[in-house]
This record gives sequence, structure tokens and C-alpha cells, in this order.
Amino acid sequence: MLKNKNKTQKISKTHILQLEQAARPLEPAAPQRQGWNQEVQQYADRFIEDISHLKAYDSFGEKQAPSRLEITEQGKPLEQLLEELRTLVDRQGLNPASGGHLGYVPGGGLFPTALGDYLAAITNRYAGLFFANPGAVRMENDLIRWMCDMVGYPAGSLGNLASGGSIANLIAITTARDKKGIKAEKVKKAVVYLTGQVHHCVQKALRIAGLGEAIIRYIPMDERFRMDTQALKKQLEKDQASGMTPFLLVGSAGTTDTGAVDPLDELADIAAIYDLWFHVDAAYGGFFMLVEEMRPAFRGIERSDSVAIDPHKGLFLSYGLGAVLIRDVKAQYDSHFYKANYMQDAQQQDWEEWSPADLSPELTKHFRGLRMWLPLQLFGLAPFRAALSEKALLCHYFYEKVQELGFEVGPRPELSIMTFRYPARATDDFNASIVEHVRKDGRVFLSSTQIEGEFWIRLAVLSFRTHLREIDLCLQILEQTVAELDQKAENSRTKQ
Ligand SMILES: *Cc1c(COP(=O)(O)O)cnc(C)c1O
Repeated sequence: MLKNKNKTQKISKTHILQLEQAARPLEPAAPQRQGWNQEVQQYADRFIEDISHLKAYDSFGEKQAPSRLEITEQGKPLEQLLEELRTLVDRQGLNPASGGHLGYVPGGGLFPTALGDYLAAITNRYAGLFFANPGAVRMENDLIRWMCDMVGYPAGSLGNLASGGSIANLIAITTARDKKGIKAEKVKKAVVYLTGQVHHCVQKALRIAGLGEAIIRYIPMDERFRMDTQALKKQLEKDQASGMTPFLLVGSAGTTDTGAVDPLDELADIAAIYDLWFHVDAAYGGFFMLVEEMRPAFRGIERSDSVAIDPHKGLFLSYGLGAVLIRDVKAQYDSHFYKANYMQDAQQQDWEEWSPADLSPELTKHFRGLRMWLPLQLFGLAPFRAALSEKALLCHYFYEKVQELGFEVGPRPELSIMTFRYPARATDDFNASIVEHVRKDGRVFLSSTQIEGEFWIRLAVLSFRTHLREIDLCLQILEQTVAELDQKAENSRTKQ
């Protein structure tokens, strides 16, 4: 290195200017931009106009297999690329933008999410450090504070806007580990308390956070799949007596399988007595707190230490936004902050705002606050409250109606998820063929699960596009499906 230091190198200016010319397409002029905007806008409009009669699930069947990516030296026309997108991506498999999506946990796709993303990408503001963009960072932090306020956290709490619930849970668990002093030599005696219904991203996060060898206690549940607090206390007593280090309690506010909300108030009491970090996974259910009548189900969440909550579920945003809320932001900072030499201008202790980059594993990130800020500001809260209330009622409506068709149901829904199955031919196979039949039909999409070894079909209502029409259609398809499957079974019996 040093040897070459003084050697002069001839750099041709002409060559630099030639390269500038060759790179010019990267900065399209106004007419080109307008043309592209128009084509994309038409594509988006058509997608939305068509959505009510497009399938919620489109079997791959005889369709063209997705082609292999080919990146060429010369660019291709946008029209051709959009056609590829339409046929190879947007007409296959699950359509999460459809109101007929009633499986897993439906996502959203509110239109202004896309506008926020578009503007964030065009302006490319850096929302990682207060120094780089005070306005962007303050916008993100204020959105987090709004959610903190919703769950009842005190002023001074914060958190982070992450890509989804999995990363949100990871940030909370990492913070809990450090705040409770679980260093390597303590891991094997560290104990985590949760139920078998906790989302699997929690176990994943434990492993990623270096807690893979910690002891996980699966606490028994009541008949509605909520943590049994008596059993929890007994286990804690036992673990304490035998010299273990209980440090983390994970409750769920809306489990994925059945939508169950753990008794958060009692869990908060227990966490206080045993000095546990109390984390609540409310990724799916949290925003039902916006519905006044549903708030009592969440009582106790305000005494937790951290909450994971997904705006890309309960606020109907497009995929790509989960949030973690943390009461003790200093603890979050201590786990995620790092001082690097090249960051010396940006990192000062006396900024008036926390910086997202100091509170998460991410440094450079999408300015994802804009995709949440825009819909909330444009629509106001009222339509969100109404939509969430509507989704919960639709689930209750289905719960009543599906029983009239002869189906057996799981626990009465607390939020907007429930389970059901056809008991007359109580075999798992029969119920699995119902799910398959519905998927092949494709107008609505349902998913299934195993609960304590038994097969159940699930209904999850959370798309802002799901209304009474889709729920009635689902009931109608189920009725038809059972009749057809019965007929088929009858035919094969008479043949034998
Ligand atoms: C969806 C979900 C998660 C995971 O969130 P992602 O955004 O998919 O990463 C975690 N917990 C619960 C309860 C969920 O419903």
C-alpha cells in the first residue's frame, strides 16, 4: 500500500465522461418517468378493480411455471415486465390482498401504504439516525409513542418499527436477556415461561438471541387455550427452589391458532412477584385495543415490559411493518447500541430523540414510518376502529352460522380467529379434504392446524377487504363442499 502511495496514475477525463453517458439511463428524464408512472398506476388500478373477482387462492395447476430470472445487458420495456409480473406472480398461489383470504393471519394492503413506500423510496430519507433526518426519526418515534400510549405505557417508553413481528419479538427478547443479566454462563439455568400456543417466532428469537440452551417451560392452558396461571406459579416456585433463574414470561394477546388472549392482568402480577421480564406478543391481536368494547380483554398489557404488535396485520398495512414497544428504552438501547469510529459525527449522547439505529439490529433501513403515517393521517382513526370491530363481529357471525351447517366449533372467538371441523365424519382426512376442496375452488382461502394433536380448520378475519359478502360466500362454499364430499363417499360405498 505505502509503496504505491506516490505513484501517479493517469486518469482520463474523457473516459469518465463516456462512462457518465453510458450510465445516463439510471436517471430517466421527466417524460420517461411519467410514462412509467402511468403504466404502473394502470397496473395497480386494474389489480384493485379486479380483486373482488380474482381468486383468493389460484392453484398452480397447469399454469406456466415461474420462469428463471434473466438479467441482460440491455434493459427491457416496462410493459413486458408488468405482463410477466401479472402472469408469473400476481395470478398464482395465495392472494393476500383478497378479501377472501381467511387463512393464517391475513395481511392488508391499504392503498396509501404504497404511496408512503413510493415517496420514501423516491426521497430516500434516512430514518436511522436523528442526526441524518430529525423529521423522519421524530415521525417514526411519534408513531411508536402513539402505540405505546394505546397499550397504556408511560411517557418515555419507546421501541422500534421493524420489518415484522418476528424481528419485533427478537428485539424484545434480546433486551430482556440483557436487562435480566443472562450472560453465557447463566443460560443453561435461565428459564422462559410460555404456552404451546405461542407463535414459533418466539422460540426462533430465543435461539437467535443465544438462548437456545435456556429452559423453556410450556405452561398448561385452560379450555380456551389461555395460560393457566396456577400452573405457572407452581412451576415458578419449583424452579426458584431448585436454583434456576426464571427471567422471562411471554404472554400472547391473540394467538395465531385460536386467537386466545392470555390472562395478562394476572401474568403481570406474577411477573412482578418473581421479577420476570413480561413480554406480550400482540402481533396479531394488539390493534383490537382500538375498539373500546374490546379493550378489557387486554387489561394488564400496560404493566408488561415489552409488546410486539404488527401494523401490517391489525392496521391493514401492506407487508413490511411490525413494531416492538419497550417500556424501558434505556435497556433497549444498552442491548442494541454500538459505537463505531466512522459514525462519530452522528452519535452523540445529547440528541433530543432516540435514534432507531441505536435501538435495533438495523443500520440502513427503509423509511418505513411513512407507510404507516400516511394511511393514519389520510383516513383518521374512525374507519380503522370500525373495520376492526366489523372483523370481530364477522368472526362471531361465522361462529354461529357454521354450527347451523353441522360443524363443531372450538372456543368462542375472543378476537377474530376461531377453529371448527366437521364432526359427522370426524376423521382428520375428511376435514383435510374440506380444506383442499376450498383451496381448489379458490374463491376463499382457509388454513388448518393441529391443536393438541387434533386437526382443526381455522377462520381468521383480518383483511380490510373481508366483509359479510365474503363470510357468507365462505359458508356457502363449505355447505357445498360437505355435500359433494358426502356424495363422493356415498358413491364409493355403493360401488364396493
Ligand atoms: C404473525 C405473527 C407473528 C410473526 O409476525 P411476522 O410479522 O409474520 O414476522 C408473531 N406472533 C403472532 C401472534 C403472529 O400472529
